[in-house]
Amino acid sequence: MALFRSPASPLPPSLRLRRLLNTSRSKLSLRSPTAMASSSSSSSEHNEPLSSSAKLFHVPALNAHEMEQIADKTVDRYSRSYDAKRRGRGTAIVWFRNDLRLLDNEVLFQAWSSSELVLPVYCLDPRHFATTRYFGFPKTGALRAQFLIECLEDLKKNLVKRGLDLLIRRGKPEEILPSIAKTFGAHTVYAQKETCSEELGVERRVCKGLHLVALSSVSTSNELSGMDSSIDAKPQHASGISFKMGPRLNLIWGSTMYHIDDLPFSTDHLPDVYTQFRKSAESKCRIRDCVKVPKYLGPAPSTNDWGCVPTLKQLGLSLDQVKLGMRFSGGESAALSRVHEYFWKKDLLSTYKKTRNGMVGADYSTKFSPWLASGCLSPRLLCEEVKRYEMERVANDSTYWVLFELIWRDYFRFLSIKYGNSIFHLGGPRKVNSNWSQDKKLFDCWKDGRTGYPLIDANMKELSTTGFMSNRGRQIVCSFLVRDMGLDWRMGAEWFETCLLDYDPCSNYGNWTYGAGVGNDPREDRYFSIPKQAKTYDPEGEYVAFWLPQLQVLPKDKRHFPGRSYIQQIVPLKFGNIPRQDGTQIILSDRRGKSRR
Ligand SMILES: Cc1cc2nc3c(=O)[nH]c(=O)nc-3n(C[C@H](O)[C@H](O)[C@H](O)COP(=O)(O)OP(=O)(O)OC[C@H]3O[C@@H](n4cnc5c(N)ncnc54)[C@H](O)[C@@H]3O)c2cc1C
Repeated sequence: MALFRSPASPLPPSLRLRRLLNTSRSKLSLRSPTAMASSSSSSSEHNEPLSSSAKLFHVPALNAHEMEQIADKTVDRYSRSYDAKRRGRGTAIVWFRNDLRLLDNEVLFQAWSSSELVLPVYCLDPRHFATTRYFGFPKTGALRAQFLIECLEDLKKNLVKRGLDLLIRRGKPEEILPSIAKTFGAHTVYAQKETCSEELGVERRVCKGLHLVALSSVSTSNELSGMDSSIDAKPQHASGISFKMGPRLNLIWGSTMYHIDDLPFSTDHLPDVYTQFRKSAESKCRIRDCVKVPKYLGPAPSTNDWGCVPTLKQLGLSLDQVKLGMRFSGGESAALSRVHEYFWKKDLLSTYKKTRNGMVGADYSTKFSPWLASGCLSPRLLCEEVKRYEMERVANDSTYWVLFELIWRDYFRFLSIKYGNSIFHLGGPRKVNSNWSQDKKLFDCWKDGRTGYPLIDANMKELSTTGFMSNRGRQIVCSFLVRDMGLDWRMGAEWFETCLLDYDPCSNYGNWTYGAGVGNDPREDRYFSIPKQAKTYDPEGEYVAFWLPQLQVLPKDKRHFPGRSYIQQIVPLKFGNIPRQDGTQIILSDRRGKSRR
């Protein structure tokens, strides 16, 4: 079967590609037509042209077969083509956390090279499905849980392709890992280093648990007590590794584009102004190359119970299929396919800076964040792809700007080390003292999209329906909650924690503290005027009418301030700009600050 051939398209892929490139060439200064994974354009039932009247946008807009083909080609590019030698002995465990990928995964590479057998493990930690700290929302909403399930299915499939498998257990890592390490006689548990307190607490307890294994092994070296009884495996002390030393926890940095060890300052001395951080990083350090993991990683230790990827029901959750807005597919294969689609197939990277503040459809921005947060995608791989695109197609403001945004992501991660738990506290890193309300009724109107401001309501409905909201939308609803409603910003942050597919504590609480004016940089204190934002970013009311169909019948200039034909506004806007009740509006500029980017 021809790759990516659309039944609907009479043109062979090579011809369609040439046409695509010819059109693009007239607009861009193309240097070479080479594409990342495959040069053909793809098509599927998901891949209809995305018009604003379309209701559902698959991200990526490719079917499972196409995604697998693209992922395989990308694996070829980013894996070792020769059989690298492994120098280690015995068994090493890879404890997968927020690094659910094979490419550019240093944890996996180090485990492989330090052992004869690699055992990949994922722990479904019940604490991730409990409630948020202050306001008791579900810590993981059903949409993100579904995304995680898809990530695990894809990871397991890809590990099997490479001669391994994924051992899945439900329970706390500090209980599961020592027991598994003992059963398999593993010398090391490798894992990606995290930075926030809950994750650090788990790391400490895993370390302690492994230490106890060492002690108990010394005293009862022939007993198998404390072993994972669900596993029918013999202790595998391959090649005579001394079990008396006990298993160690080896934590490896891996979540950022710039490696923490390469920063020109310690995290204690991280600049409090983003631009200073970015400029020093850009001028004084180099982004490391991707770690090339061998294609074949086997053999795996033998066991007859690898465990299963859970269903949503088994996690105690349920979900209606997403039928409106964006439907993301979880997993590394989908992530690599989205990179292929956004960069190479649709050439959207070359216009990113102009489109990134959009809200309609899937293509105004990269949509990489859910895969970055779960670790299905490495920011270093993205950087290499940007550089390759710049060499082969075009280098401009837009290609740079994706890296600029990824540096924000790095920055929030490093800030979480510098400021520790204060990013979760009401007063934030600057310990600002303010009066905040926790009015539940007001909050529920915000959360459910019933504030009477279509721009807020549409964004909140998008969030609860799809698990995603644009960066523009996030800044607007955050400003509204904090400045117009006067609510405790942590209520908003925790609701985002529940809903977002891309939830990541550093980026989420980092951005919320900025939005609430309690972040480390006092200059980041902004008010987003709804009339002005509506006029600039949704002038035709297309976005609000998409999520609030009752507005579709109204003239475009009335959709943002529909007056009596929409629900009553729950609070007045703080800084003027209050639309008249007849639906007309007076647009003033924002009184304070400017939107950052
Ligand atoms: C209140 C609030 C809460 C947020 N919570 C999160 C969160 O939990 N997880 C998360 O990944 N992002 C968060 N963001 C940042 C940003 O909104 C999303 O990263 C972005 O909308 C994701 O869409 P994209 O991948 O298409 O981004 P693009 O515009 O295509 O940007 C490319 C990548 O750059 C990174 N990035 C862009 N903007 C930011 C930013 N402001 N902060 C950190 N990284 C950024 C993301 O990894 C993103 O995928 C939040 C922003 C706000 C204002």
